[in-house]
Amino acid sequence: MPSRTPQIEQRYELAIGRLADASGSGVYAPVVNPATEEVIAEVAFAKAGDVDAAVASAEAAAADWRRVDWTERAAAVGALADAIEGSAEELAAIDVADAGIPIRGMRRDVANAVSYLRYFAGIASELKGHSIETPAGFMQLTLREPFGVVGRIIPFNHPLQFAAAAIGAPLIAGNSVVLKPAEQTPLSALHLARLADRILPRGAVNVLPGGADAGSALVRHPRVRRIGFTGSVATGRAVLRDAAEGIKVVTLELGGKNPLVVLPDVAAETAAEIALVGMNLQRTAGQSCGSTSRVYVHSAIRRAFVEELNRRLRGLRVGDPADEATDVGPLAFLSHRDRVLDCIRSGIADGAQLRCGGAEPPAGLDRGAYVAPTLFDEVEDGMRIATEEIFGPVVSVLEWTEEAELPERLNALPLGLTANIVTNDLTAALRLARETEAGFVWVNGRGQRPFGAPFGGHKQSGLGEENSLGELLSYTQTKNVIMAGLE
Ligand code: NAD
Repeated sequence: MPSRTPQIEQRYELAIGRLADASGSGVYAPVVNPATEEVIAEVAFAKAGDVDAAVASAEAAAADWRRVDWTERAAAVGALADAIEGSAEELAAIDVADAGIPIRGMRRDVANAVSYLRYFAGIASELKGHSIETPAGFMQLTLREPFGVVGRIIPFNHPLQFAAAAIGAPLIAGNSVVLKPAEQTPLSALHLARLADRILPRGAVNVLPGGADAGSALVRHPRVRRIGFTGSVATGRAVLRDAAEGIKVVTLELGGKNPLVVLPDVAAETAAEIALVGMNLQRTAGQSCGSTSRVYVHSAIRRAFVEELNRRLRGLRVGDPADEATDVGPLAFLSHRDRVLDCIRSGIADGAQLRCGGAEPPAGLDRGAYVAPTLFDEVEDGMRIATEEIFGPVVSVLEWTEEAELPERLNALPLGLTANIVTNDLTAALRLARETEAGFVWVNGRGQRPFGAPFGGHKQSGLGEENSLGELLSYTQTKNVIMAGLE
């Protein structure tokens, strides 16, 4: 089993957290490098029965962890951030091989992983209750208490970054975590768990590699009271259904088909630059929930915009994600590439004008899950490429002429994650920002997501918010205490 990344081991067991004694299902799943199609490791694949062992491990740790002073919890999570920073290149190389993310993009993912943990450690003192004025004789106060065991389930597109972000808020709030990474990209989360095991009490972080069975069993487990899920809308629905039986608190970070609106007062070059950044091609080949893949350009500048964007997309270097010069790597796995290619074929069949890319592999990249950056012009609202989240390097350009038509067209889909409005006209920007149904709106945004700015979807793009004080508090439950003196 060849592996060109020395820190990747050939076989990973379930022995994480207090799972060392768990027998495991005995089933191993291959981990494939999407750039080479080679199997680079095999990973124990948790089944429903293993979830019980993971929850027991987390539960044993939770009892003590919640009693640790918050300053010490913050210090421990801060120390984990330092440890990630200290292993930055090794961790980055793991996701380069496992997820196909280009090395330059991965360095930013690792930096974000560190920052998420430092951010939550830094706001730990906000875990406070309140007291209201009461008549003499008694007092009221609220406490914020942890849930105990939190289940977090993450997708494949930013494996290490999401794994770190997913444990930060629950740990600071005094919970222990069972984290299930995506079955396609489990390796960096397993390495993160090892770092956590050295710094946090054993069992505070438990990583359970596996697929839908393990995820569903985690959501349904009676001793898991709080679920944080990031993934597709379809799986989000399944998670809600599974959580309904136990009346669990659930937050969902789901998909988007995010619009970028270009007004006619902007230079085509500027708008094209922003559209390029908005696709997140250089981090994740467009596999990003926030990618602005539906681009509405005013008729006065549409042609010039398409020329500019076309030139930029053609200039991107697609190839080996381990190469420092690479801009765009492969998609994370082969069957996802096939789905993206199917979407591209549908755009061609529906009559959209293909300006670059397409369903053929990029030159010289017949092997691997590569898709060429693809630009469609003259896209109509009802086409599949304008309505379905493609989660790949595919941009659809649609034309508009009257601002009055925009809200209905932008808001026609059941999704509402992000939107970006590109203009110098502040009045129009404010109008459109208010009218667009999305949880995170940029004006002239270049992908900025400052820590503390709440991120979360409207409509079917999600429930709740993350990356913010709201996320930290959402991993606590309020207890009201009334204290009265005895007469
Ligand atoms: P997915 O829904 O297929 O899988 C996500 C996770 O859920 C994986 O770990 C998977 O094993 C697990 N899972 C599958 N079935 C399950 C079940 N029945 N119960 C519990 N868990 C189950 O999503 P994906 O294809 O890995 O990721 C892509 C999607 O994630 C896109 O739609 C993207 O927009 C979305 N996403 C959203 C955000 C956000 O912050 N809103 C961020 C990243 C990705």
